[in-house]
Amino acid sequence: MSSNISQSYPYTSETEPQRAEAIDAALGRFDGLRDKVSAESTGLGEVGPEEHGAPARWWVWVCPKDDFTGRLHVAGYARDNHALYTVCDTCGSTFLR
Ligand SMILES: [Zn+2]
Repeated sequence: MSSNISQSYPYTSETEPQRAEAIDAALGRFDGLRDKVSAESTGLGEVGPEEHGAPARWWVWVCPKDDFTGRLHVAGYARDNHALYTVCDTCGSTFLR
């Protein structure tokens, strides 16, 4: 398996409050990013506990653009694809996953 492929595997996961905080911080840090994300993705809607009452968790990926220091957090669903729309907390890039 090439390293290129493994980089698209999730790095870790986070809870809904962690995800929401990371996205909010990223959208506040980069000019125009909030508008871009709302133009290109839909929100996640109401996020409730999963079955058995366990809190929802979201995948987190490593950003391929900034020497792998950034983390990609789920911002919503892509409007044009059946994919998760993610935002890097370090460089503000967006990726579909
Ligand atoms: Zn990045």
